[in-house]
Amino acid sequence: MTGLEREIRELIAAEGPITVERYMALALGHPRLGYYVTRDPLGAAGDFTTAPEISQMFGELIGLWAAETWSLLGRPAPLRLVELGPGRGTLMSDALRAAGVLPGFREALTVHLVETSPALREAQARTLQPAGVAVTWHLQLAEVPPGPAIVIANEFFDALPIRQFVRARTGWHERMVGLGPDGALSFGLAPDPDPRLAAPGQPGDVLEVGEAGLAIAAEIGARLARGGGAALVIDYGHHRSGPGETLQSVRHHAFADPLAEPGEADLTAHVDFEALARAAARAGASVHGPESQGDFLRALGIEARAERLRRGASAEQAAEIGAALRRLTGPGPDGMGDLFKAVAFAQPGVTQLPGFAPPAASVRAAQELEQT
Ligand code: SAH
Repeated sequence: MTGLEREIRELIAAEGPITVERYMALALGHPRLGYYVTRDPLGAAGDFTTAPEISQMFGELIGLWAAETWSLLGRPAPLRLVELGPGRGTLMSDALRAAGVLPGFREALTVHLVETSPALREAQARTLQPAGVAVTWHLQLAEVPPGPAIVIANEFFDALPIRQFVRARTGWHERMVGLGPDGALSFGLAPDPDPRLAAPGQPGDVLEVGEAGLAIAAEIGARLARGGGAALVIDYGHHRSGPGETLQSVRHHAFADPLAEPGEADLTAHVDFEALARAAARAGASVHGPESQGDFLRALGIEARAERLRRGASAEQAAEIGAALRRLTGPGPDGMGDLFKAVAFAQPGVTQLPGFAPPAASVRAAQELEQT
């Protein structure tokens, strides 16, 4: 049994069952024993691999996206370039290198990393040291100084805790983590339905509500409306809100039982892009997309970039570049192209951002209504 499981069992024995949200928050973020607190989980030797770790092309295209967006917004300076949950700092490092092609951009910006994990802060400092830019770390977005900002978040929102509700004849009951007859962690339901949830459903349906993520989307939206700028969120998830259970545990690149070995496995949930976009729009931001990651990266020119890198590469390197391109943009279980989505938020009045098809006039009108 992990040390964290022992603590969680004791907590439940003392106080009764805890929500899935609290369980997830403890498993990932317990100040001493949480998954992200104790390790760098990324890469082949870790538990999972993210897009920036697959290929430099990903971060480079996002850097170009940021530079072009900054130009489009009238080149505000100073610009806060903010990343939420930057992992090893790979995306930011590739982005800064690529964005250097636009004169003035690097001179205008200061880099702000929002990161709770001490282990990953260290990795970020190492990765970004050669970039020669001023980097400041923060525990929360609210600590980043006000003013125009470009905010990037890749595979950040999926790591935030969610609540789960299960439909029974009596209504939606919150899913809890309690102790089974043998004392092991086990799922159960709150005895009373949640009176605020009125959505229809079939018995056994599961609803997931990511309140922590929605609060951050609203905070980003409000910040962009007030201080100007744009945000790019990329993650796995669904275009539309709806029932479905997506809480998952991953360890050593394979799915695991979410209640097994808390603190040793990554726990995530799919991102509800519709709800995220609504939260940002209500706070005053314009919304662009979501598009599938494949469409977004193709619109930014990933195919030409791959072609360019293949020129002058060895046969082996060229094959690797081709494999990375397929993994980042392709469909199917091995590709991230369809499962992952990109959505952008921007200060009000922005009608187009790089990589996103302009919204139909009717959608824009509906968004403007949301903001009033
Ligand atoms: N964006 C990176 C890493 C994704 S993993 C990449 O694409 O490779 C999730 C990241 O979010 C990690 O850096 C983790 O430490 C960070 N994180 C998780 N919960 C957080 C929270 N509540 N506040 C800030 N950072 C958090």
